[in-house]
Amino acid sequence: MPTLTVWCIDKANVVTKVVDTCDEISALITPCLQYQSYFNDVDVFFPQYKPSPANTDLVVYYLATPDSVAFVLDGNADQAVPEDGGQTIWSNGGSGSAFKYCSEVRVGAGAKASARGLAKLTFHEFMHNKLKMGDGMHSKGGLAGASVDESTALTTQNAKDFGQALTKQHVQWIDGYDSL
Ligand SMILES: [Zn+2]
Repeated sequence: MPTLTVWCIDKANVVTKVVDTCDEISALITPCLQYQSYFNDVDVFFPQYKPSPANTDLVVYYLATPDSVAFVLDGNADQAVPEDGGQTIWSNGGSGSAFKYCSEVRVGAGAKASARGLAKLTFHEFMHNKLKMGDGMHSKGGLAGASVDESTALTTQNAKDFGQALTKQHVQWIDGYDSL
């Protein structure tokens, strides 16, 4: 069975606890896998090169500054991302072709101090990405809620919603790698 691959793009090396962050993201996604039958495992990488994600993979850009990468893809995105905040958009980049998805998290003091907190912010953005939902998702609560920190719990509903969406082919925009 296939493995779901998560690519954490951190060109600025702003994430201080890389191994812990990988473990924490895996620990959040693993309980979601039971709600689908395609993936049996998840791998999380911090590649030191521009990856070529599969159509079902997930990508997150970690920002060291407020400057949004998503804004490069689509000017409707917020240009500035607050510390320990994130943003996810989908856009055809004005080309008329299929949507590409972009999730980003700005690594602030909280995310530097807590790999679990960073993983939960990342998971929240991945929920926006796979569910293709904007702020309306926040009413679902838990890690889908508007405010996420290291103590926010993954609810059974979160795991089910995310797990059932994992096989969607939401192609991740990877050219943001060149803009970081
Ligand atoms: Zn949100």
